[in-house]
Amino acid sequence: MVTDIVSTLACQNYQSVSQIALYVANCLYFMFYFARSYCFYRFCLRVVHVASGARRGLEAILSIPFWLAQALCVTSVFTGAIFSIDDAGYHSGPLYNMLYVCSFLYVGLSILALIIRGQGLRPYERNVAIAYNAALLAGYGMRLLFPKVLVMDTFCTIAITIIFFGFMNPHLFIDQRRIAYNKRGLRLVLSEALEEGGMHLMGMVIKNYQQERVIVGGERIDNTVGDISSWITHTFPKNVLFYMGSGQFAMTGDDNVDWEDVHVQIRQRFQQPWETGESALNLSVLFVNIDESSGLSTADKIINTLTLSLESAERDISMASDSSKDTLSISEVYEQVATLRTLEGVLERNEVEVFLQPIVQSDSRKLVGAEALARIRDEHGCVVSPTLFIPIAEHVGLIDELGAQVFSKVCAFIATHDIEELGLQWININLSPLQCVQHDIAERFGSVLEQYSVSPDVIHLEVTEQSIIDYDLVKDQIVQLQNMGFKFSLDDYGTGYSNLVRLSDYPFANIKLDMSLVRSYSSGKGNLIPVVVRGLKDIGYTITAEGIETEEMAEDLRGIGADLLQGYLFSRPLPMDEFVRTYGKDQAKGILPIV
Ligand code: C2E
Ligand code: MG
Ligand code: MG
Repeated sequence: MVTDIVSTLACQNYQSVSQIALYVANCLYFMFYFARSYCFYRFCLRVVHVASGARRGLEAILSIPFWLAQALCVTSVFTGAIFSIDDAGYHSGPLYNMLYVCSFLYVGLSILALIIRGQGLRPYERNVAIAYNAALLAGYGMRLLFPKVLVMDTFCTIAITIIFFGFMNPHLFIDQRRIAYNKRGLRLVLSEALEEGGMHLMGMVIKNYQQERVIVGGERIDNTVGDISSWITHTFPKNVLFYMGSGQFAMTGDDNVDWEDVHVQIRQRFQQPWETGESALNLSVLFVNIDESSGLSTADKIINTLTLSLESAERDISMASDSSKDTLSISEVYEQVATLRTLEGVLERNEVEVFLQPIVQSDSRKLVGAEALARIRDEHGCVVSPTLFIPIAEHVGLIDELGAQVFSKVCAFIATHDIEELGLQWININLSPLQCVQHDIAERFGSVLEQYSVSPDVIHLEVTEQSIIDYDLVKDQIVQLQNMGFKFSLDDYGTGYSNLVRLSDYPFANIKLDMSLVRSYSSGKGNLIPVVVRGLKDIGYTITAEGIETEEMAEDLRGIGADLLQGYLFSRPLPMDEFVRTYGKDQAKGILPIV
């Protein structure tokens, strides 16, 4: 804007300004003009997260018009392409319209990026991005139609204002009701603290938060959390307080803070009730501390570790009768934190392993399918159980990446092996309910299938009852996946609510009886199980029994009509290469030895 004003003034008074000054003023004006449209476009790419390595080539090509325009501006001194200066002052050059070409090109590309990738944004962010691009588009249009009316800068100011309020407004980092900053703010503060070297973070969680919420009601708990926040902010004005949801707080401070004293003061305050309106609430808290010695290198890792630690503190200590203990050090949640770090490392290096466990026909014992089960290894090469790392992945938001790696690896396996030769008609892949909520899951799976030229017929997706409890959230995705050709299995049947009436609303072809059902039936309990199995089969589901460990179990379940069996009796989950060695060509085909 400054160069706009300066160059306009210089052009108006060209007689009294030297030609060199005129050149410089106009050259800067044009260069900044082009840069402005380009910067708005780059900003939009950041907003929709496409500025990643994979698209560098395309980005480089799309930046050519910008760099070309810059070169034309500078060389206009000799060529007069964009503008020229002579004794009669300033003249537009033959390529002056490059200005419009670039402006419309980049605003167009921004809008295209929003259309293609904008689905991943929260609606609010998408609207802000659309609004600022609309302001720019209006500005460019006005400039094109009414070049004499100088309103472009006004429209740019509007665009920048929209960006400021939409993306950079400090209020976005404040948890509205609780007078504390939110997780986004914490991430920002931690990133800065890490760059500067020092940080100490105190975590605090209200004991039994969820139960309290249920017992005393959401509104009262929310108000109390607000009171707690304002008490802490006033008592420790030099520290910064964050509220992370679910009764979890975080606090940062400089090197001089005596954290032990902070704990003591907060604990003392919690010995008195929190008055809310007509009643008083007695609460207690637990603390977790993290400092540089924990060796966590990014803000996200620190936040994940803190949330996880607070959650285990809540779960493990709240339940313990030893109420004198209320501070949890990192070493006490070391196992979970270690698993989290292992998981982060494994995902970063794309080293998730997929084991395959055979699924056999109950009568012939012939191998017909396999279930893909994720495995990760810790630094000693020991396999970590998914029952440990899947909940963590779900909790800290890594489940998508984990699921994506498992899916790709199964597709790669199918693409590089003759699976029919191995006896496999399909491979089952587990989907976490949190994966099903992602609205672009079908699209992502689709592009992986395409990459490996794999047909969806050979992949069955296992979802647990848990996912269908919130069926409205996952329905669209499941229908999309089903339309693409995937079949669905209901996993762990018998562990959830098992709503028989609504079952038929869902697109399952197969139901997997959970190990616990299999065990109770085999041990003589569970008289209802045969009836349920018969009913499910009548409706048309095929039935798989999981966790078959003994010949008796296999016989019992075959006896009540299970079509397929899976369990240690036939085989444990095997690494892919071992699976191929065991069931490949040279082996007695298909019929499984009983071990
Ligand atoms: P699941 O889907 O119900 O998988 C069956 C689990 O039972 C597997 O445990 C398998 O090793 C175990 N199992 C199979 N046969 C027997 C048996 O005869 N006896 C006993 N005691 N156990 C048997 P695993 O591999 O530890 O996986 C545990 C759970 O973790 C899975 O339960 C699944 O819910 C989840 N999981 C595993 N891989 C993935 C994945 O890639 N994505 C997602 N979202 N979840 C996964
Ligand atoms: Mg499963
Ligand atoms: Mg299962």
